[in-house]
Amino acid sequence: MIKTRFAPSPTGYLHVGGLRTALYNYLYAKKTGGSFVLRIEDTDQSRKVEGAVDNLLSTFNRIGIQFDEGPDQGGENGPYFQSQRLDTYKKYINELIDSGNAYPCFCDTERLKNVRQQRLTDKLNTPYDRHCLSLSRDEAMTRMSTESHIIRLKSPADEDIIFYDIVRDKVSIKSNDLDDQVILKTDGFPTYHLANVVDDHLMGISHVIRGEEWLSSTPKHVLLYRFLGWSPPKFAHLPLLLNPDKSKLSKRQGDVAVEDFLDKGFLAETMLNFVALLGWNPGNDKEIFSLKNLEKEFSIKRIQKSGAVFDQDKLNWMNSLYLKNESLENICKKVESVFTSENFDISDNDKFRSAVDYARKRVNTLNELPDEVRMFYFDLKFNNEDGEILSLKTSFSVCQFWLKELDTQSSWNADDLKSLLKRTIEETGVKGKDLYSPLRLALYGSVHGPDMPTLFNLLDLETIKLRLKTSLEFHTG
Ligand code: GLU
Repeated sequence: MIKTRFAPSPTGYLHVGGLRTALYNYLYAKKTGGSFVLRIEDTDQSRKVEGAVDNLLSTFNRIGIQFDEGPDQGGENGPYFQSQRLDTYKKYINELIDSGNAYPCFCDTERLKNVRQQRLTDKLNTPYDRHCLSLSRDEAMTRMSTESHIIRLKSPADEDIIFYDIVRDKVSIKSNDLDDQVILKTDGFPTYHLANVVDDHLMGISHVIRGEEWLSSTPKHVLLYRFLGWSPPKFAHLPLLLNPDKSKLSKRQGDVAVEDFLDKGFLAETMLNFVALLGWNPGNDKEIFSLKNLEKEFSIKRIQKSGAVFDQDKLNWMNSLYLKNESLENICKKVESVFTSENFDISDNDKFRSAVDYARKRVNTLNELPDEVRMFYFDLKFNNEDGEILSLKTSFSVCQFWLKELDTQSSWNADDLKSLLKRTIEETGVKGKDLYSPLRLALYGSVHGPDMPTLFNLLDLETIKLRLKTSLEFHTG
């Protein structure tokens, strides 16, 4: 049975790279009929951020990814928390000490710092000199009950530690290059390596799919599996995410936090689709995938090794496409609060729908929608150049004629508009740019803008008359 997991440390927000890791794990589990779990790796108490887990869960909720299992805490499908599993880790740490694969270390920080410095100068690969490994077992045990200490794993000498990675194939590391890693800290919490391996094993994780930055930790994990007598899961390390200039993707929250993209008006569907293609492709040029499609088409074998460029222009393009194709109902629902927060009166639902439908074809994000239709909701503002156009005699006669014609109307349709335009040309002799520019300016606030039927669709007759009246005030002659 395939089982994958997403195992973030709760250090703040969900990074786009984290979303990609979670998504690939989710997709692989779905594709194979397996399950996907969330495990919060909170054993580093110094890096803990208040509210980070709630924030993570709410971001996954917004994005539409669900986890399959979890213990009682945190709701039905709530996550596992490593900080609640300390006794389990202690048990395996003791086992490692008993089997001679781990040992206590009593060196204080001052000594460790000096040793590290000296070994660096001596060009030695590992920062620790194994000082405490030479203590007799009895001495080590006695001191453990009274002195502050950490526990280290004993790396074997002179061997190649080999494992297979689905993305990178064979990976080999010299054991002499591995430091005797810490597995238990002085605060009684295990380190990432120990807790991660114990949990992956006990939770029956079959595939560990994670970012490339964890590749160097994997030999240490492979050792832990061996010392504990367990067979390791399969590993797949995902390519780095890069800026367009090929540097490592920024860590600044505003540029990479999934919640910020959602807040800026990128759709969850877009984010999933976009992120899915950062390191995977279907083998053809298809680029638009719903989550359901991805569940079918994703293949772990097609994950690339080379870095994946995060292209903001492509994200914008993709979101604009989703905005055009998404159901109008959904877009309206999603964007309602953006409009009301900017004081739009959207009580006329037909008008709101038409406005959103008009604007969504012109923008990249939901948040840009209000600006596209502001002129249908608020009084127009004119600059000097606009004033000059409206003060022209031709402009005046067109607007005046329209006002006179519309005054007697109480309703309006597209045919009426056609015939009004025809009559305007006949009666005033004004046509072409001289006809359309002042009308657009008067009704919409700019000479460039939607066509007349759209304008009439979005503005009620009263507003049209009022705006025509205002435009006449520019004429002084
Ligand atoms: N806790 C690690 C992280 O923050 C998990 C890495 C892994 O998946 O093993 O990403």
